[in-house]
Amino acid sequence: MVTEKIYFDANATTPMHQRALAAWNRVETECWYNPSSPFREGGRARRVLREARETLAGILGEGEEARLVFTSGATEANNMVLRWAAEQSARGVHRPGLLVGGAEHPAVRESALAYWPEAEIFVCPVQRDGRVDLREWERLLAGEKPGFATLMAANNETGILQPWQEAARLCAEAGVGYHCDAVQLPGKASLEGLPQCPFYTLSAHKFGGPKGCGVLRVPTRENSFHGQRGGEQEGGVRSGTEAPALAAAMAEALTEVREKWETWAPESGEGRALFEEVLRQTIPGVQILGEGVPRLTNTSFVIFPQGDQLRWVRLLDRQGVMASTGAACATAKEGPSHVLAAMGYEAMEARRSVRFSGLPQYGKAEWEFAAKAVAGAWQKISPA
Ligand code: PLP
Repeated sequence: MVTEKIYFDANATTPMHQRALAAWNRVETECWYNPSSPFREGGRARRVLREARETLAGILGEGEEARLVFTSGATEANNMVLRWAAEQSARGVHRPGLLVGGAEHPAVRESALAYWPEAEIFVCPVQRDGRVDLREWERLLAGEKPGFATLMAANNETGILQPWQEAARLCAEAGVGYHCDAVQLPGKASLEGLPQCPFYTLSAHKFGGPKGCGVLRVPTRENSFHGQRGGEQEGGVRSGTEAPALAAAMAEALTEVREKWETWAPESGEGRALFEEVLRQTIPGVQILGEGVPRLTNTSFVIFPQGDQLRWVRLLDRQGVMASTGAACATAKEGPSHVLAAMGYEAMEARRSVRFSGLPQYGKAEWEFAAKAVAGAWQKISPA
């Protein structure tokens, strides 16, 4: 059902699913104790954590060979992995050098630059279609011999899917550690294959869970892995008092996603197709990124032929559509998106770009509403 104002910024964050909110409320009300406390209530809080971890492991297809570590979200997790891998390199545990995708989220890009000497970072560029070239990935693995690699699953700005399963396989064959920033997958694409990534990160608020909570997958065999030092929480891997209510809510959110995404995906795909068709018919010269490659069905990243992106989002806002200029974490930053630049788009084009990212459960009605809002905004922007 379409309401007055519709949210189209789901790649930035999502509202909590009712069952996740209920779980959070229940645990925070009845079982708010510190999981490290020695009395029975502390034990109950520990049990909540254990059950949440088991639920997540079941859905993600994880077994003994993986440890799912609760974190405050993906920024922390990405930092932890890349800092640890850089330390391993510095100690000579594995080869120096990091192979990194050309359109990564700042939580990966900036972490790489912070923890690795610049000369040891090898970027595998994305092509005009937004995807890394696997032959180049393979060539860099063989030629530069990096000790660790990271490639995101789906781009948060464009929704374009990277060939992350193949990249993981090539890394395994080359004996190189691999991390996947899989934040944008749950609720929008299949999670199959994640256990083949030695490390991956998820963030609950991107799939109907609470903010400030995520999961980092670490191979059990990596017993030197250390994310955050302090107490012995999370087996000493990530110190800091755990949040059972957040963990329980995240597990409920992923359960909802598992139960629903197979119906959501086709519906949002149809809705998005209709939206893009209307745009092509209404706005001559409009560009839709990633049309020819696999991408998330909830995302449409558009470069308009005219109009500054801030003007577009303000007009859309007035038309009842909450869209954005790209990544939420870059909204306050000057300059065009690094993702578009990496794909070879001009700064001028990037300044006319708008991201529409619907909730995964949206269907035709919501996307139609967005298309009408775009048509309304276009009437104000186009000179004709
Ligand atoms: N990685 C990707 C691909 C993202 O889209 C985001 C959030 O925008 C993050 C990492 C950071 O996640 P968090 O908000 O949990 O720190």
